Amino acid sequence: EMFGQLTSGLESAWNKLKGEEVLTKENIVEPMRDIRRALLEADVSLPVVRRFVQAVSEQAVGVGVIRGVKPDQQLVKIVSDELVKLMGGEVSELTFAKSPPTVILLAGLQGVGKTTVSAKLALYLKKQGKSCMLIAGDVYRPAAIDQLVILGKQVDVPVYTAGTDVKPAEIARQGLQEAKKKNVDVVIMDTAGRLQIDKTMMDELKDVKRTLNPTEVLLVVDAMTGQEAAALVTTFNVEIGITGAILTKLDGDSRGGAALSVKEVSGKPIKLVGRGERMEDLEPFYPDRMAGRILGMGDVLSFVEKAQEVMKQEDAEDLQQKIMSAKFDFNDFLKQTRAVAQMGSMSRVLGMIPGMGKVTPAQIREAEKSLQIMEAMIEVMTPEEREKPELLAESPARRKRIAKESGKTEQQVSQLVAQLFQMRVRMKNLMGVMQGGSVPALSN
Ligand code: GDP
Repeated sequence: EMFGQLTSGLESAWNKLKGEEVLTKENIVEPMRDIRRALLEADVSLPVVRRFVQAVSEQAVGVGVIRGVKPDQQLVKIVSDELVKLMGGEVSELTFAKSPPTVILLAGLQGVGKTTVSAKLALYLKKQGKSCMLIAGDVYRPAAIDQLVILGKQVDVPVYTAGTDVKPAEIARQGLQEAKKKNVDVVIMDTAGRLQIDKTMMDELKDVKRTLNPTEVLLVVDAMTGQEAAALVTTFNVEIGITGAILTKLDGDSRGGAALSVKEVSGKPIKLVGRGERMEDLEPFYPDRMAGRILGMGDVLSFVEKAQEVMKQEDAEDLQQKIMSAKFDFNDFLKQTRAVAQMGSMSRVLGMIPGMGKVTPAQIREAEKSLQIMEAMIEVMTPEEREKPELLAESPARRKRIAKESGKTEQQVSQLVAQLFQMRVRMKNLMGVMQGGSVPALSN
């Protein structure tokens, strides 16, 4: 089972939380130690492990309680989210040139699966409807050229070869020319691998890269090499500049260190993974699926996610309920209108709102005057009337009294009452629009 050891190492962390009510600074100490150990045993580099453990610990302590979700399940979710983040979050797609051909340059040490990947990648792209051509550039191993020709036949993709006596950069130039002649969509160049990085190798790669001006430069690394893979990606990136990595042999008993470290250590994403010797065994690298496999707890994760959603939903509904049932009365009305007036020069405020245009001084005087009229009417209301606008809506006698005491007309009082109810409706509508979003401050 891939990552089996890592998975069981993490399991012991969850087990230590069985029976706990909530995650605390104290009760996560032991589980965090297990997580740390499991990651180190999976050959994740120490700085990466440290950052990871710290990030998880901080979140675990502050996570709070979600009804129905146990602390160990919460920790699984936090670890999962952090694993996904560690591996780059989103899947990192291949980039294609605006005008074909797209050129993909493959590099890597000997035996990592580079030649195999070349052909796998051609098949993968062919399935996406792209025409491909392979360039055999491993001039140090005649067998590698033969191998690529055989694999090319297998996936039915033409292979450009120029033997072993031509410099790789020259092969690249000729191959690219041929590809343009043939109008292929994607050219994939296999290059020489060495047992270890040396200057000649890097210089040759630089020459090839200059010649091809590739859209993608992908380093093929072997998952079995653990954190060494991440170090290699970093070195190649610094030396020649790469766009990402392809991780091979993920089907073997890889411990996981490579998959977990590459992005964090090198800053470059893993774009594709090889999971077997068949030509079909190449696929995009999905950080979330990878985390799921490592944890082996898909059901727990989706359960916690659902619970979190439900809680968010309940919170939102609760808030909405409060606002909708909030008696927006004449006191609130007064507070609100005064607050707006206090914003000082209303013209300046309104002028800052796009689409509002200029407000004329006459309009400002108008607004201030109507505020004064409203205030005069509200001032003569009884406290009960201010709190229950319905009283005014229902009673012409009350409206008449207010008109008389404030020196305004009955029509003005009716308008004010109508305005208040309109405001209530607007607020409810606003809440409808904002459902799930943030909530505005109603008054100060
Ligand atoms: P190169 O020297 O980098 O070109 O490596 P090759 O392409 O010749 O591959 C070396 C060996 O690794 C071959 O036996 C491949 O079949 C094997 N190989 C490559 N990719 C994978 C993979 O994803 N899974 C497994 N199990 N074997 C692989």
